Amino acid sequence: MNEDAPIFVTQPLLPPLDQLMPYLEQIWANKYVTNGGPFHQQLEAALCEHLGVKHISLFANGTIALMTALQSLGVKGEVITTPYSFVATAHAMMWNGIKPVFADIDPATFNLDPARIEAAITPATTAIMPVHCYGRPCDVQAIDTIARRHSLKVIYDAAHAFAVRQDGTSVLTHGDLSVLSFHGTKVFHTFEGGAIVSPDSATKRHIDNLKNFGIVDEVTVSAPGINGKMSEFNAAFGLLQLKHIELALDKRRAIDRHYREALADVPGITCLPHAAGVVANGAYFPILVGRAYHASRDELYQKLRDAGVVARRYFYPLISDFPMYRTMPSADPANLPAASQIARQVLCLPIFPDLSADQIKRIVGLIRQACRA
Ligand SMILES: *Cc1c(COP(=O)(O)O)cnc(C)c1O
Repeated sequence: MNEDAPIFVTQPLLPPLDQLMPYLEQIWANKYVTNGGPFHQQLEAALCEHLGVKHISLFANGTIALMTALQSLGVKGEVITTPYSFVATAHAMMWNGIKPVFADIDPATFNLDPARIEAAITPATTAIMPVHCYGRPCDVQAIDTIARRHSLKVIYDAAHAFAVRQDGTSVLTHGDLSVLSFHGTKVFHTFEGGAIVSPDSATKRHIDNLKNFGIVDEVTVSAPGINGKMSEFNAAFGLLQLKHIELALDKRRAIDRHYREALADVPGITCLPHAAGVVANGAYFPILVGRAYHASRDELYQKLRDAGVVARRYFYPLISDFPMYRTMPSADPANLPAASQIARQVLCLPIFPDLSADQIKRIVGLIRQACRA
């Protein structure tokens, strides 16, 4: 491998191409390309088994899955969410005519702070959309208690949380619904794709109708649905990738351990600790660049970039800093001190299954070097 080839923050998992050919031959043979074909059905079943959940609906992407999740529960008015996420979390609300209300995060977990959720509730609040940021589980018990007390729906944006388990169960079983993304940058991907995890078959059926224009049968359309269907090509690729996912997850977890050990003694660099009782997925490797470090976060970011290491400032800017949100009262940085502070300090280092020990050494070396400069 070329010593100087750029290292991106992530790299899609792509099994050997020859392994894909039998799947494509089957699609060509049976001429079933979309609308819940055989591979689509197989992938739903395989994912339920793999993730330890009962009902999954596949989608064309995670954003349409988020939009459909909100639609399916009839969410309106205001939804409390985190500013510390990918912009699709809030955009999915806007496309439903819902107003996002930003609450601050807990600086120890980077997830919504339950106390701040409760403080943000108004008579217009109908739901909470927390994000399991970097796959680190939210305080699901506290959020559940708040939701019950105020009769609010909870939709988890679980785009980062594929295969994450807590105390032996899938983190995707909490709240009313959980939404996954299978985008190429995610731990498990189908090039583009997503899914909704439902608690029961009636909910799944309703969501399956909504993602197919609201069509129930040949002569019945029950709701103004959308086209959110996953094609047979994407589903076939997902089935192939599932065969490789355990090894890929193990490699990610090993890289996570490697980084933690190698960075432990660097002054001013802090790694986000794992939560107790959690099987993590190694989806991201965020570090905080603190005052004790001899360069700013942006200086380190640029230094890495100049050396061909493309780390990313997830999540900077905050969602609440983008023009369509920043005039909202809840978007005021004074309302979001922890999120604002972390957005200024965070840097996500490259992590993907094929990241080599030499590449990690190179990245860690650059961070240490900047430290001495
Ligand atoms: C990736 C991502 C999404 C969007 O998923 P797509 O499949 O790209 O539409 C939503 N929320 C979060 C937190 C994400 O990281």
